[in-house]
Amino acid sequence: MVPRADRSAVLADGDHELILLGTGAACGVPSLFCSCPACLEARREPGYARTRCAALVRGRKNVLVDAPPDLRAQLLAAGIGQIDGFILTHGHYDHSGGLADLEFDVRVNGRDPIPSYLSRQSEERIQQAFGFMTDCLAVSVIDGREQFVIDDVLYTALEVTHAPGTFGLLITTERGRTAYIPDTGPLPATTIEAIRGVDNLILGACFWAENPMPEDHLTVSDAVRIAQDIGPGALYLTHLSMHFAVPVTNRELESYLEPFGPSYQAAYDGISIRI
Ligand SMILES: [Zn+2]
Ligand SMILES: [Zn+2]
Repeated sequence: MVPRADRSAVLADGDHELILLGTGAACGVPSLFCSCPACLEARREPGYARTRCAALVRGRKNVLVDAPPDLRAQLLAAGIGQIDGFILTHGHYDHSGGLADLEFDVRVNGRDPIPSYLSRQSEERIQQAFGFMTDCLAVSVIDGREQFVIDDVLYTALEVTHAPGTFGLLITTERGRTAYIPDTGPLPATTIEAIRGVDNLILGACFWAENPMPEDHLTVSDAVRIAQDIGPGALYLTHLSMHFAVPVTNRELESYLEPFGPSYQAAYDGISIRI
């Protein structure tokens, strides 16, 4: 069973960590109504379960990337007391379905609206779904490859191939560069160039063996091939479906990645990466 991250450590001033709160694709693992080998493995060994994709950049402030339907449980598990900034990569349900839980942080605690960065398309989508609480967000619209700074961290929006208005992130700290791209198909050349040689590449690898949606999702082997081109210090695969369309167990995935060395790994929920 994979270990859970230890978040008791206090960060030195100016240091940042990226916590992957969730590393599963839209259905999560185990998935409801499924008893494939991957879902059975995750039911047997909860360390192999994966909630939907979200990340948290933790320094002096807590910056949340995406708000999946599992958000409440993820923030409780990570011991996060408040959210100081919010970035939405796109409005799909698996990345935004838990957004309304942020309402309580703002209204109940009497806090200012949360500075939030999202595309015009995502803004329209959350306005439809969560119009009752969007006044809890102070929205800056991201339109293209924009940059913004929160807590001494520079965020650069990266073009991806997914639903219109989706972006990935290049996260630059004093210590290094990290690309967080949870949901994408083949990467545009501009993005490949922007992230060449990053210290950490966290890349969506939705499918195993077969790709039912090749325009806007990658397989594990696609993601590995991209990593070999980019040459990151470390590769973490995320947004792992595991059970769809061809199931793969963690054990099979780990042995597939083994020949690439210890810097290539399947991320798991709660993993902390120094950035
Ligand atoms: Zn997704
Ligand atoms: Zn998506």
